[in-house]
Amino acid sequence: MREIQTVGVVGAGVMGIGVSQNLAQTGHQVILVDVSEDILNHAKQEIRNNVRFQGFFQKNSEAESPDDILNKIKFSTNYKFLEDAEFVVENVTEKWDLKKEVYAQLDAICPEKTAFAANTSAISITRIASVTKRATRVVGMHFMNPVPMKPMVEMIRGHHTSDETIETAKKMLAQMGKECIIVNDSPGFVSNRVLMLTINEAIFILQDQVASIEEVDKIFKTCFGHKMGPLETADLIGLDTILFSIEVLYESFNDSKYRPCPLLKKMVDAGLHGRKSGKGFYAYSNPN
Ligand code: NAD
Repeated sequence: MREIQTVGVVGAGVMGIGVSQNLAQTGHQVILVDVSEDILNHAKQEIRNNVRFQGFFQKNSEAESPDDILNKIKFSTNYKFLEDAEFVVENVTEKWDLKKEVYAQLDAICPEKTAFAANTSAISITRIASVTKRATRVVGMHFMNPVPMKPMVEMIRGHHTSDETIETAKKMLAQMGKECIIVNDSPGFVSNRVLMLTINEAIFILQDQVASIEEVDKIFKTCFGHKMGPLETADLIGLDTILFSIEVLYESFNDSKYRPCPLLKKMVDAGLHGRKSGKGFYAYSNPN
């Protein structure tokens, strides 16, 4: 019997879809909340496609069907259903003004003992916890994308996060088949303080016409053995999310090294958000 059965997932974008699918595939009941029916329908379709696609590669004929998985997820625009959640993973847009409102709502609706895991790219967990009355039960859970395929999570201990919450979060991840590396709170944590600067600088290189998109990525893949180059990685994450994250770092450290590249801003304004929009640095026939 799992210790945590029912998990709330807030935000049904790239990460919320992956987290919900992973949770349902590891036997949890999921309550997935976003702001519109259209977004939820898109999430439903994505999960159906992903599970079907996974099925092609699984020899195990016992594997659950897309319908079995979708039956474990309640899709809703109503936050009220989250009162049944024993644990909540928040995955809304990387904008402080939005997240702040979301946590105030969650704090009012969820039982006092429910822990909140923030799947943010860069916002300080201590800052997020400050808008709730349960700072000891707020933790950072930085999942990697695509969530069902990535076994490691960067877990962030906020200033007030209790040992009990860390243990609960570890159990939650173990139930999802994942391990974690725990780090102290600082904007961007370890991963994105480095990665966002790298991606932003790769975009400056492109803007300065030092090399082509393919050449930039190829140098990282062939010279350093990275599986993906920085521009491919940017497309996978979402260029809007990259811009919001680097803006959070800029605002948090007041350091000009985090200023976003004008080409990144222009691409986001043009709707070139990467894989999820069908076009970023590369074009995709199958947007997710
Ligand atoms: P996304 O833009 O794909 O999805 C964000 C979702 O949040 C959207 O569906 C949006 O409608 C929803 N949302 C906005 N306001 C809401 C509200 N008030 N209530 C409920 N839902 C709301 O973004 P994403 O890539 O899924 O990122 C989500 C979070 O995860 C961000 O904080 C991001 O930094 C973080 N993250 C992203 C990645 C990545 O690779 N994309 C990896 C790790 C963490």
